[in-house]
Amino acid sequence: MGYEVVIGLETHVELSTESKLFCSCGGHSSADEPNDCVCPACCGMPGMLPVVNKKAIELAVKAGLMLNCKINKYTTFDKKSYYYPDLPAAYQTTQWFHPICVEGAVEVETSQGTRTIGIKQIHVEEDAGKLVHTNDSSLVDYNRTSVPLIEIVTKPDFRSAEEVITYLKTLKSKLQFAGISECEEGAMRCDINISVRPEGTDELGVRTEIKNMSSLTSIEEAINKEAIRHIDALERFTEELVQETRRWDDVKKRTFSMRNKETAADYRYFPDPNIMPVVISDEWLEEIKADMPATTSEQAAKYVSLGIPEKEAAQIVTEPVLSQLLDSVIALGADAKTASSWIITDCVGILRRNGKVAKELDIAPETLFYIISKVSDNELTRKAGRNVLVAVISDGVDPKIYAKENNLFSQNDSAALEEVCKKIVEANPQAVEDYKNGKTKAIQALFGGVMRELRGTGDPAVINKILLEMLSK
Ligand code: ADP
Ligand code: MG
Ligand code: ZN
Repeated sequence: MGYEVVIGLETHVELSTESKLFCSCGGHSSADEPNDCVCPACCGMPGMLPVVNKKAIELAVKAGLMLNCKINKYTTFDKKSYYYPDLPAAYQTTQWFHPICVEGAVEVETSQGTRTIGIKQIHVEEDAGKLVHTNDSSLVDYNRTSVPLIEIVTKPDFRSAEEVITYLKTLKSKLQFAGISECEEGAMRCDINISVRPEGTDELGVRTEIKNMSSLTSIEEAINKEAIRHIDALERFTEELVQETRRWDDVKKRTFSMRNKETAADYRYFPDPNIMPVVISDEWLEEIKADMPATTSEQAAKYVSLGIPEKEAAQIVTEPVLSQLLDSVIALGADAKTASSWIITDCVGILRRNGKVAKELDIAPETLFYIISKVSDNELTRKAGRNVLVAVISDGVDPKIYAKENNLFSQNDSAALEEVCKKIVEANPQAVEDYKNGKTKAIQALFGGVMRELRGTGDPAVINKILLEMLSK
């Protein structure tokens, strides 16, 4: 009999706020020393009153919008009581009765096609501190205590490790894209709930929960190993499956039982009497929505409406570095279509030739705008502009100094151009004669000679005109 694996994820991510969830202490990343960022409120001293961080609420709402959730207008904070040394208040403030976002869905692209993963809820809660174990003692660092997190809980909709990994990658890029979380390495922590059931049946099997996983490789290994353990238990009666919490051992490559699954009653959830319910008004919700970045398809549509070819627009929106550069250069006053072509054809092309990828593009918008405007003002030819850009991207030179030192600024003074044309015409009597005998293509050789002499800095249209005049005499 075949078995189907069923997985639901609870993912914790740290919100990109400047201060903690209920006090004005800075986030733990701003700390130099252990316990640098602590105050009576986040240390759980009796009598301290928490004040909800508005930014944390806004970021949680944004996460809900990114994941197509319903936003609860009335949301509350509740106490989850348990004792552990990294939790100074002996309770964690979380959202139990009225979580901020519910009933969402997210699409993930897998090798089996597009899969829709339901989001059960997103709630806001505070992180715990950190224990540092040394040889003879254990130390506690409260810098991370009360740093705001969101926990994103999916429905049991995953059917393979691949789907889980793709979901986590999609989630990470969405959260980073909207400025909700930096999702630093190891800062996205998942609890994996897993069960198996005979293929074709609907009833959920007994589940186990593997706690606190952050590496994608380990997540994949843990899921595959745990599924095999469940199937063996059902098929070959190797053990009795019980609902429990387990941990993954990355060395032994297997899960171990940690404790029986705790139930809600164990935590004695109750509304925190010190924190007023947060009410999200329609106006506030609209403000948060207005502050969301455009999705890539909205952004591509905007670029197309500015005259950028569809193919280029699609290419630019896949790489935030490129779209940010384009937006900035347009904001500085560049024509959208011209700027886009400089970015896609020139910047990315030059990077590729240097063995790099688009993501690695590092050019100030002002620098690119300088080159683009010098070219459109005919102070640099397109070719000279590109040469400057190559030097900027490859060697980080200053475009103005580089162009000056290498005599790249255009020579549009027609007297000077005429001088050069005359010299080239005199030096190439054969080409002149060919031209006069009807081989009009011969002018190209003369044109090339003039350009070489000027090292590409002459205005092509002016040179052409001068040559035509000379040859018609
Ligand atoms: P609890 O409150 O006990 O943690 P939840 O209903 O919030 O339970 O579910 C926690 C996570 O476990 C969710 O992601 C859910 O999709 C998942 N889950 C629940 N039952 C199962 C199951 N039988 N198999 C796999 N995942 C499950
Ligand atoms: Mg849970
Ligand atoms: Zn504090």
